[in-house]
Amino acid sequence: EITEKFEAAWKKLRGQDKISDSNIQSAIREVRRALLEADVNLQVVKEVVEQISKKALGTEVVAGVRPDQQFIKVVYDELVKLMGEANQPLAEVEPTPTIILMAGLQGTGKTTASAKLALHLRKLDRSALLVATDVYRPAAIDQLVTLGKQIDIPVFELGSDADPVEIARQGVAQARAQGINTVIVDTAGRLQIDQNMMAELARIKQEIQPNEVLLVVDAMTGQEAANLTRTFHEQIGITGAILTKMDGDTRGGAALSVRQISGQPIKFIGVGEKVEALQPFYPERMASRILGMGDVLTLVEKAQEEINLADAEKLQEKILSAKFDFDDFLKNTRMMKSMGSFGGLLKMLPGMKVNDAQLQQAEVQLKRCEAMISSMTKQERQDPDLIGKSPGRKQRIAKGSGYTNQDVTKLVADFQKMRTLMQQMGQGKMPNMPGMGGF
Ligand code: GDP
Ligand code: MG
Repeated sequence: EITEKFEAAWKKLRGQDKISDSNIQSAIREVRRALLEADVNLQVVKEVVEQISKKALGTEVVAGVRPDQQFIKVVYDELVKLMGEANQPLAEVEPTPTIILMAGLQGTGKTTASAKLALHLRKLDRSALLVATDVYRPAAIDQLVTLGKQIDIPVFELGSDADPVEIARQGVAQARAQGINTVIVDTAGRLQIDQNMMAELARIKQEIQPNEVLLVVDAMTGQEAANLTRTFHEQIGITGAILTKMDGDTRGGAALSVRQISGQPIKFIGVGEKVEALQPFYPERMASRILGMGDVLTLVEKAQEEINLADAEKLQEKILSAKFDFDDFLKNTRMMKSMGSFGGLLKMLPGMKVNDAQLQQAEVQLKRCEAMISSMTKQERQDPDLIGKSPGRKQRIAKGSGYTNQDVTKLVADFQKMRTLMQQMGQGKMPNMPGMGGF
């Protein structure tokens, strides 16, 4: 019976629009401005907006969402795709060593990134050797040696009188002889692209035949990132990039430029001066950051997880039996959220009284729940009682989600309470809506 009411309410809320030229004009302008403000290269902006608009036309608009908002969601999805969809890990070859050549202008963070990568690899149980070929700046070799000491990673160097190509060659040979998994060759840069630097880099590449050539790009470079990438890719050939200084206030549009121009993935971002400040690059996070439209995106996401009524029925059955678990809980609450106008829907259901403050609170609570549930194992999600019994599990979930043990305890208790309520609902009583009451 509840399912029927749900269905009726849902149909009322359902929009019938399609995305058309006329209903997305303002959204296109908004997107263009967002991309430019994020410092995406002008030419790249043009290409991308054109490409995406064409794709979006005719798309059906999801319930409860305006066509222009839906368009922004399409843009977001396309940006994610353009930037490679998923994180691309570093190359790893057999026989070892995997050879990584670092490229980029001076001051972009090559030397720092080399050390960061070595540390990252160690966490993956991959040993590393750092090779110092920047013989032009007196302090450059020392800098790498110091970083190496700091993280206990060996550094190969032949002083500042040696030939960079020779240093690279011997460094790789040493890594091979010592059975080291990965060798990271740090190189010199100039303040601007110059032919000597490019020629030297090309010679090093020719000599050591790297498996990865990573272009290190300062995210603060903005528009210039595009030209830089083009030059390095044409003259050297890159296999990926590291975007540094993402801890600054840049929106990271360089990521889109680098990817669009080279076709190669961004693999990591640098988020600080410390050696630990390296993160894998995630296209989704970057797309949100570039668009800088958190609110709009959330709204559209919610609406787009379209409710599947067959699913709802199945869920209903589960709820009424004792089998309701955390997975169902997540699904259920997401489904509720997905109904664009959550409040409007609730008001159509008999016996429901909610105000905006309650709705807002429910949203916040829902986020907390989702974070904690995401830190549970599959087994724990399916058998919430497991967690209640084990302080170790609680602690792990708390740590993983950034909440406290008490929060986890409360979640489990609330969940158990809710399950009871839902079972009562099965017997004809009306409980709080899930995601509303104690959460
Ligand atoms: P290189 O000339 O390309 O080798 O650049 P360096 O590795 O020497 O870095 C140049 C400067 O940028 C140093 O002061 C670094 O501490 C700083 N740096 C490098 N990566 C990052 C980063 O991700 N964030 C911030 N804030 N600073 C960085
Ligand atoms: Mg350097």
